[in-house]
Amino acid sequence: MTVHANLIAGEWRESARTTENVNPSDTSDVIGTYCQGSREDVDDAVAAARAAQPAWGAASPQVRHDVLEAAGAAIMARKEEIGRLLSREEGKTLAEGIGETARAAQIFKFFAGEALRNAGDALASVRPGIDVTIEREAVGVIGMITPWNFPIAIPAWKIAPALAYGNAVVLKPADLVPGCAWEIANILKDAGCPDGVFNLVMGRGSVVGARIVEHPDVDAISFTGSVPTGRGIAVACAESGKRVQLEMGGKNPMVVLDDADLDIAVSAAVNSGFFSTGQRCTASSRVIVTAGIHDRFLEKFAEATKALKVGNALDSATQVGPVVDARQLEGNLGYVDIAREEGCEVIGGERIEGPGFFQRPAIFAGARNDMRVCREEIFGPCVSVIKVADYDEALAVANDTDFGLSAGICTTSLKAATHFRKNSKAGMVMVNLPTAGVDYHVPFGGRKGSSYGPREQGTYAREFYTIVKTAYIQA
Ligand code: NAD
Repeated sequence: MTVHANLIAGEWRESARTTENVNPSDTSDVIGTYCQGSREDVDDAVAAARAAQPAWGAASPQVRHDVLEAAGAAIMARKEEIGRLLSREEGKTLAEGIGETARAAQIFKFFAGEALRNAGDALASVRPGIDVTIEREAVGVIGMITPWNFPIAIPAWKIAPALAYGNAVVLKPADLVPGCAWEIANILKDAGCPDGVFNLVMGRGSVVGARIVEHPDVDAISFTGSVPTGRGIAVACAESGKRVQLEMGGKNPMVVLDDADLDIAVSAAVNSGFFSTGQRCTASSRVIVTAGIHDRFLEKFAEATKALKVGNALDSATQVGPVVDARQLEGNLGYVDIAREEGCEVIGGERIEGPGFFQRPAIFAGARNDMRVCREEIFGPCVSVIKVADYDEALAVANDTDFGLSAGICTTSLKAATHFRKNSKAGMVMVNLPTAGVDYHVPFGGRKGSSYGPREQGTYAREFYTIVKTAYIQA
């Protein structure tokens, strides 16, 4: 079988260690063999990026536009094929895999345009005869470390702005899902991205990721993943003076008020909690329901959840694919036990025997916000339902968490929706919509334990990937 090599300085380079990319829907299906790089591979990739960045940063924005546009077009043209690869390696349904791939293409196309719009400012100095200009320059070499749950969208939303603004990149994707990242590398190479401007080093976090973070010639780190890994990276970056951006976990609340449209609320809760097998940082894992609608909501939510078809991600009838691997499945099942021990009524949640890692979506009814299942990120298809007296208590419970990524409310009251939008302590607020499902052209990110540093995506991504220079000129 072909070994998928790392891309370093424009060359495909194999490594001594490899890993097999296995389909979580069917572990007998091996997608391919992928290299696991070494510290030396990282050093070579960083050296190549350092050498290539000045010319890339100084190139006409048309050059950068054209590479990003071509990459976006290539991803879009192959969205069915790459989407299928994504679903095979990560386990989200085929529709979700193709959708994520199309989104990655749109992100590349969006930032192709942004390369041409990197405007600065010009002001008169307070001192006569002097002009002041404010321009944004590339930061330099950006190290990127990404998680397994969005194998193409998250690499895309880091790579595209970094390249648009003239940076060079070293990407380490999650070891569980190297396939889509490898496709991006291949596409960028074909799109004319100069040697060394984009480098891919696949492999383990403790080896490849750690070396990228500690490397003295990396200027900035963009990380998405879990809180413990992110916090460690933030400390290392503070010590070495690197710019850092972290997107981490969530324990996202969805509030359902007495006046909610019940069908909208149930549909939003099912989508937020269980689509993509609940493996989304924006998934809603706490549904907070006021007393007047609680029983009706729970009954319909349970009914809709029981009707979900769990199965092979590539089967067109499947609504919920597998859990990503055995370890994550064991963790989810452990939380099902914890929910019972903590006194919840558990609906669903059972392991489904099969050739992959399957679990029925789980509802933890009768949950209290101080339970472990309401405080810790589970990152699986497990949703706690918390009953509260009224809107004020719902808002307090929604905000009572260490995280602050996304929050939702289902209500027909403009007053309640507006109050929630203004008072939710989350980075993203959704009204009568799932907490997950975000646009690619607007900022994405959270507060508190969920995020650190400037926002990703949309025009706001420029904050992280550029550095401001103020110049004073006397003619
Ligand atoms: P993880 O923290 O285990 O791994 C993330 C990445 O960090 C992987 O590439 C991993 O190899 C690497 N890594 C691990 N140890 C490292 C180290 N010591 N030094 C450098 N790199 C290291 O997270 P995961 O399990 O891949 O992803 C799930 C987590 O990601 C969840 O907590 C989820 O909420 C979060 N997530 C957040 C967002 C967001 O935008 N907020 C989006 C998607 C996922």
